[in-house]
Amino acid sequence: MFEVSYSSLAQVIKCPKSWLCKINGYETHDFKWFKEGKDIHAIIQEHVSGTKEHSFLTQCGITKDYHFPMVEEKDFDEKMKFTFEVVADGVPFLMRGYLDGLNPEIKRGLEIKSGSALWSLGDFIKSPQRRIYALALDLKDMLLITVKRDMNLWETDPKRSLKKYLVPTTELDKKSAMEFIKLGCHIILKSEYKAPENRNCFNCIYKGSCEDSLCLNRR
Ligand code: SF4
Repeated sequence: MFEVSYSSLAQVIKCPKSWLCKINGYETHDFKWFKEGKDIHAIIQEHVSGTKEHSFLTQCGITKDYHFPMVEEKDFDEKMKFTFEVVADGVPFLMRGYLDGLNPEIKRGLEIKSGSALWSLGDFIKSPQRRIYALALDLKDMLLITVKRDMNLWETDPKRSLKKYLVPTTELDKKSAMEFIKLGCHIILKSEYKAPENRNCFNCIYKGSCEDSLCLNRR
């Protein structure tokens, strides 16, 4: 059975050719911000689980009301993994993912995003990732903590360096999640794998290893 994740489906929907790169085991490009993002995730996860408080997060309102007893403690932490089967075009796929944090008692999930810009509430409401995770674990709601990647700003401009949004799960979310998954699986099954005109090779994890001619120009 094909195993898919939110990120692989998002990549396939943006550029079907990325599926060929994935199944051929092409080398992935390690963007500098991956490592920074992991460090920031760890700081927030320690804070929300109560392992180690961080004053900036407390100052920004991440109080004990936002407690997550379960957090991802290493890459692909088994205890944070979910899987469920989806049938698309008559073919079974195994959907999998890993939550950043979970409060199982109140069915609340946690998502953390770090970057050069903060996410808006609208971005999070529309996020297929939020919808898929909420569907997978039948979550009542999900909290997004979005922070600036540049940790110097946490001290110099704390008010504009973090936002948090709590979004309840709706039936429409679950329906949209399923549509997103089935669209990605449908593209995989179509077996065309053509790169679209508006691809963004520069930000693709396969830049440098994908054999597409446009990508060669961007190496
Ligand atoms: S490098 Fe470009 S063409 Fe290749 S998979 Fe990524 S987006 Fe598609």
